[in-house]
Amino acid sequence: MLGGKRMRVLVLGGTTEASRLAALLAAARRDIWSMLSFAGRTKAPIAPAIPYRIGGFGGVEGLVSYLERERIELLVDATHPYAEQMSRNAELASAQAGIPLIVLTRPPWLREPGDDWTIVGDMEAAAAALGPEPKRVFLTIGRLQLAAFASAPQHAYLIRAVDPFDPPPELARCRVIAGRGPFGSAAEEELLRDEKIEMIVTKNSGGGAAFAKIVAARRLGLPVVMVERPQGVAGDALHDPAEAMAHILAHAEALASRGV
Ligand code: NAP
Repeated sequence: MLGGKRMRVLVLGGTTEASRLAALLAAARRDIWSMLSFAGRTKAPIAPAIPYRIGGFGGVEGLVSYLERERIELLVDATHPYAEQMSRNAELASAQAGIPLIVLTRPPWLREPGDDWTIVGDMEAAAAALGPEPKRVFLTIGRLQLAAFASAPQHAYLIRAVDPFDPPPELARCRVIAGRGPFGSAAEEELLRDEKIEMIVTKNSGGGAAFAKIVAARRLGLPVVMVERPQGVAGDALHDPAEAMAHILAHAEALASRGV
């Protein structure tokens, strides 16, 4: 027990890593009070073992107000590497509120010899990289940036998303299948074969939960259009929830030793 007062932590989540960290925080609840925040993009997020909230804060200003109102002493940005806005807001808000920020993110996937990757800067470039010939394309990019593929209507798209689409995506030839990771590489290989997929478009999310499709593409010799990560926030990112937990405990101990 660290001196009697529980340190207060806010974790910005929506990722497997954030959920893993939440499980570690739940085990340390005697010393640390923590809250996990979801944006609300997924209809039914898997409930964590710590308290959680859903929805935006209202920009940097809203996040600073939340941090102050809830007397948060440490902020953890464990959002997805492509959640650029939230990460920027977290960096600015932690500086304004005068509390430390820990960034927890997955290391990117690395190309191996034999991988047929085309690396592009954004979704528009990904659509162009599919080429003029009609192809069967597997899209695992979430729902928000599908509009970029309207510029390439010659292809037939198989889209995988956590929730069903309502309204359906505005793509001439597409089919949506539901799926929430982690996925297995044998099942991914079967899906790619059954659907006669010729190209895959993905973000470089990193981590294990979505890696199976990369392994399956490697085995089948399928080309992958890889959309590069946005520039990360400043500071060193941690990659392991256990490492983030060790930093959180060290900070709690430092506060307790100062009698804060
Ligand atoms: P974004 O563009 O960086 O954020 C847009 C706005 O959504 C933020 O300004 C914030 O609204 C709100 N928001 C984002 N993450 C939040 C969180 N954890 N808690 C509360 N509000 C949050 O984010 P995004 O790319 O749409 O991603 C949304 C969520 O989905 C994130 O939690 C992310 O971890 C998860 N996710 C994203 C991807 C991806 O490819 N982008 C993939 C898997 C999971 P306010 O300004 O009002 O605070």
